[in-house]
Amino acid sequence: MFDWLVIGGGIHGCTISNFLIQHGIVQNEKLCIVDPHSEPMARWKRNTEKISMSFLRSPSVHHIDVHPFSLQQFGKISNLHNQFYGMYKRPSLQLFNDHCDQIIYDTNLKKSWYQGIVGKVRKGKDGWDVTLENGNMIQSKNVVIAISINEQLYIPDWAKNLASASPQRVRHIFDDNLKDLKEIKPPIAIIGGGITAAHLAIKMAGEFPGEVTLIKRHPFRIHDFDSDPGWLGLKRQGPFRMVKNYTSRREQIVKARLKGSVPTDVLRKVKGLVDKQKLRVVDGEVNSYTNDQEYVSLHVSSESYQVQHVLLATGFIPTRPGNWVEQLIEEENLTCANCGYPIVNRDLQWCPHLYVMGPLAELEIGPIARNISGARQAAEKIVSSL
Ligand SMILES: Cc1cc2nc3c(=O)[nH]c(=O)nc-3n(C[C@H](O)[C@H](O)[C@H](O)COP(=O)(O)OP(=O)(O)OC[C@H]3O[C@@H](n4cnc5c(N)ncnc54)[C@H](O)[C@@H]3O)c2cc1C
Repeated sequence: MFDWLVIGGGIHGCTISNFLIQHGIVQNEKLCIVDPHSEPMARWKRNTEKISMSFLRSPSVHHIDVHPFSLQQFGKISNLHNQFYGMYKRPSLQLFNDHCDQIIYDTNLKKSWYQGIVGKVRKGKDGWDVTLENGNMIQSKNVVIAISINEQLYIPDWAKNLASASPQRVRHIFDDNLKDLKEIKPPIAIIGGGITAAHLAIKMAGEFPGEVTLIKRHPFRIHDFDSDPGWLGLKRQGPFRMVKNYTSRREQIVKARLKGSVPTDVLRKVKGLVDKQKLRVVDGEVNSYTNDQEYVSLHVSSESYQVQHVLLATGFIPTRPGNWVEQLIEEENLTCANCGYPIVNRDLQWCPHLYVMGPLAELEIGPIARNISGARQAAEKIVSSL
């Protein structure tokens, strides 16, 4: 019997695990982190590496360690203090990842790592019975569900049709089956208007100058962060938590999230590439396509763009993650809002000894819940309630 079992070993799962260990609440032997990957934070590393994101969007105080200035200190000690960008000291991806690796090493998180996929969680006699897809069962007194929506890829209908006719022609950039971008040959269309699309366009235009077209439905939306910084603290979270109606809370989250936005520095790079004619940017929506042996032509308004490959940077479907959660809700009679997401208490407990973080904690934490800052706040709430 473990004391704590964390489902998902991404940024959120590693943050709560680290907080639990560093606050002396649990020791490695009594902590179990279940995740399908062989290493912590594998999905984060894969996704960010794929688009060659050089700096994080979030500031240096957002990371997986307990002390807010831990990452800045780490930058100084490791002589990488020049790897912060701009007034918010946004860390380079390399520095951020090195810092995470250091924390994971210091807290020996790999000793608590269990490679597997959770298929079922059920209340047992003394705690929770967590059954993995391979049939193994693990028992724990407390469970934290730290899964994300990052596996729920959003694919527009026309792209689904194209994929069923020519699967190699169109890929979502975060599709696990797309292992290597070397498979992608120019000319290329990138679909999407947010930060992922922008990073990807910068990367691909570097490799194939003049052969990349970025197609987006709306003009660039310029915002440094993906929600107003007021949401990081009580300024906006305070009134949000006073709202008793969870449909209104969901509406506020949707409105507050600056979806499909890009920070100024990333946009500047995109514009520089456009000026040098290394990248073409088109505003419009793909209404249809024609496909032959060699090319696919994407029809956008009255224009057509002939490409070999289409890369989708169209984000994720925001529905409640984890199919297996449905059965848990039914068996434990857990409360959900109309949007299907958990209604939890202030300590992020869905019921005694069952905690959520990440998107599942959205209705309590607000629009920052999925981000690194949301992971920190969730971990703080959980440990301070114990
Ligand atoms: C390209 C990109 C850049 C981003 N940049 C920033 C940024 O700069 N700053 C910021 O604050 N946020 C950023 N985000 C948002 C957010 O921080 C990331 O999405 C982050 O990866 C979320 O961490 P997570 O732990 O919730 O999810 P994940 O990294 O997806 O980890 C969840 C883990 O749970 C596992 N899992 C799922 N189901 C099960 C199961 N049944 N059993 C066991 N394990 C399971 C998954 O396999 C995965 O390993 C970015 C997101 C993306 C995609």
